[in-house]
Amino acid sequence: MSAFIELKDVRKVYGKGSGEVRAVDGISFRARQGEWIAIMGPSGSGKTTLLNLIGCLDQPSSGALVINGTDTATLSRSELARFRSETLGFVFQQFHLVPHLSALENVMLAQYFHSMTDETEAMAALKQVGMDGRAKHLPSQLSGGEQQRVAIARALVNDPRIILADEPTGNLDAENQKIVFRILGQLHEQGRTIVMVTHDENAGKLADRRLNLEHGRIKQNLVFSAEENQDFDEVLEHLWMRTEDTSHDFGHVEAHEFTPVQWKRIVTTMEGIGLVTVHDGLEEFTPKGEARARDVIRRHRLAERLFMDVLNIHDEDEVEQSACKFEHILSPEVTDKMCTLLGHPDACPHGSKIPRGECCEEGRVLPAAEAAGVLREIGARS
Ligand code: ADP
Ligand code: MG
Repeated sequence: MSAFIELKDVRKVYGKGSGEVRAVDGISFRARQGEWIAIMGPSGSGKTTLLNLIGCLDQPSSGALVINGTDTATLSRSELARFRSETLGFVFQQFHLVPHLSALENVMLAQYFHSMTDETEAMAALKQVGMDGRAKHLPSQLSGGEQQRVAIARALVNDPRIILADEPTGNLDAENQKIVFRILGQLHEQGRTIVMVTHDENAGKLADRRLNLEHGRIKQNLVFSAEENQDFDEVLEHLWMRTEDTSHDFGHVEAHEFTPVQWKRIVTTMEGIGLVTVHDGLEEFTPKGEARARDVIRRHRLAERLFMDVLNIHDEDEVEQSACKFEHILSPEVTDKMCTLLGHPDACPHGSKIPRGECCEEGRVLPAAEAAGVLREIGARS
């Protein structure tokens, strides 16, 4: 996945010694261009700190932040200021409007800091949020929701590709929350990348993806459905075969049933739980991922052998389908018994190597009396 925003093990530590607070404690994630990400989590979990780091309002204590290919640590102060005003638009919970300036002037002030003021453009930004009719009003003459819309117009005026919003509806009533989320939805549709901090479960659902923070870390979703686990297994299996057969071009997207978008989504999740890493768009196993891939491949190929050699099934499609099913459901114990029953075969019926198991190393032998039991056990699962 080509990342538009990429954080690599980013940390932000406040204070020293016993008073040290690890507000952001080693966060890595990538956002694609146009993705809408919701950052959620309890108060004090580091959401604002994280957003401010992404927004280059604050510098990480360690780790790297790359935005649109630019490593932000390499920028000088003035380059950073320029980069920020060209690329990022901020929306805060407190609207931070200047009280003695009108709505229009508040928007134009943002232009002023960027380059040049342009009243027509500022009006267009107000129009986008439905506030062009209130251009001359002072903040005190506007409701909270209206002030926030002016603040969004201000964020939009330099046409940033990324919008960062910190609890943008935190001070708004239900009606105005809806309006603000609708506007964010429009900005998302325009292709802007949005990173939004919110407490609101429903708002979190509007986003493409949620990151749940806890004590400055991304709380991992460690419980996956059987279907998701099967997807992981299939990706792992595929990556395994890619390492086996370099003479054969496994164009990785074509070679299995996932669409490129599905493949990316699954790989991103797998990256998050440490099964794979991605370098230059190419997936690589972590040790954990490789071990799991080895097990899946072993189950699949042993199942193929079993169907052919013991159950005498020679229909290729049937063997393949059954093996695909078995690779997800066989326990390590049953797999080893099956391997033992088959006499620890080296290769699957197509000649691909079967990864060795503990039982092979030990040269286990299955007593004849147990063989029937193993077959029954396997039969019960098919
Ligand atoms: P959230 O936005 O999720 O409520 P914050 O990012 O504001 O959380 O804060 C995360 C932690 O970092 C909290 O324990 C907070 O007290 C601490 N923190 C935030 N900013 C500072 C700062 N400037 N100095 C010291 N501690 C800070
Ligand atoms: Mg906060």
